[in-house]
Amino acid sequence: MTAPAFGRFFLPGPTDVHPDVLAAMQRAMIGHRSSAMERLLEGLEQPLARLFRTSRTVLVGTTSATGFMEMAVRNGVRQRALSLVNGSFSERFAKLVGACGKECIRLDVPLGCAVEPDMLRDALRRTPVDAVTLVHSETSTGVLQDVAALAAVVREFDDVLLLVDAVTSLAGSPVETDQWGLDFVLTGSQKALALPPGLALGVASERMLERAKTLPNRGLYFDLVSFVQATTKHQPTNTPAISLLYALETQLARIERAGGVEARWRRHDAMRSRVEAWSEQRGVPYVPREGRRSWTVSCLKLPDGTGSKTVVGALKEAGWTIGAGYGSLKDTTIRIGHMGDHTVGALEELLALLDGLVA
Ligand SMILES: *Cc1c(COP(=O)(O)O)cnc(C)c1O
Repeated sequence: MTAPAFGRFFLPGPTDVHPDVLAAMQRAMIGHRSSAMERLLEGLEQPLARLFRTSRTVLVGTTSATGFMEMAVRNGVRQRALSLVNGSFSERFAKLVGACGKECIRLDVPLGCAVEPDMLRDALRRTPVDAVTLVHSETSTGVLQDVAALAAVVREFDDVLLLVDAVTSLAGSPVETDQWGLDFVLTGSQKALALPPGLALGVASERMLERAKTLPNRGLYFDLVSFVQATTKHQPTNTPAISLLYALETQLARIERAGGVEARWRRHDAMRSRVEAWSEQRGVPYVPREGRRSWTVSCLKLPDGTGSKTVVGALKEAGWTIGAGYGSLKDTTIRIGHMGDHTVGALEELLALLDGLVA
């Protein structure tokens, strides 16, 4: 079976990978303790810092993004965290807190909503915690939270770290790691970065690193302290997924050639606007309200009597892939993952096909 051409795979992760990036993975192996590996990792340093908008060391791990969510919890939560829950992935973050033996206080809002700054302030006043977990772009509902404003609220409280899942925001919409004062921000390779799955990337603030040093039970694979030490010396902690590092190197160069992360934000903003215009024209409403919509995944409510299975299936027949809804929204919504290397042009074609399916 031959895969369809690039540009038709709009699943909200994994997303389409450009042929040049796939080709980069065919290079020969190098030793993970070789000088070639050190050069490879050193070469990633600056482009990754520009992507994360940070002056700090960006960590690259061989794990899916959930591994770095666990790293955030193990190294960032002392006793008790407040977890903002507005969908499946933020729910996962909350569960991880408990699974790592820490206490989790949840702040739940209905699906399709964001946690607003005042709600966070109230919750932090009521309940003393030492960390907050949240998901920037909640892929299950397409909600984008105002992380800059939420981070400012967290800063009003002493010694509370902010741990941010930016899996479908980073590289697709603004994430200002240093400027917003995020203590840990993480992403995975297969979403807005448009790489194959298998890598997680993240940055820890100085105060997060200092806290980590005081915490027992950080484990070994996701120990932040040794991870930062190794990365600073341009060394991997263990045998990394070398082929994926080749792909990352190639993709970072492609991003820089195309105008850097800001150009990438603009392209995603244009794709989001295009779906918004279509949604309005066709009367197919978004799940999140205006101003809280992800730039990388649009979650749309289907007309009564039209099931997601039918729509997703008909597109599949035509050679295109989108996502059905997630969790309790599975049957009634669709999710278009317009992230990574997708273009407005291909999105137009997809929307034209959708036109005939949701009328
Ligand atoms: C996909 C996703 C994850 C989990 O990623 P894995 O790579 O499957 O571990 C976490 N958070 C968000 C917001 C995601 O979209």
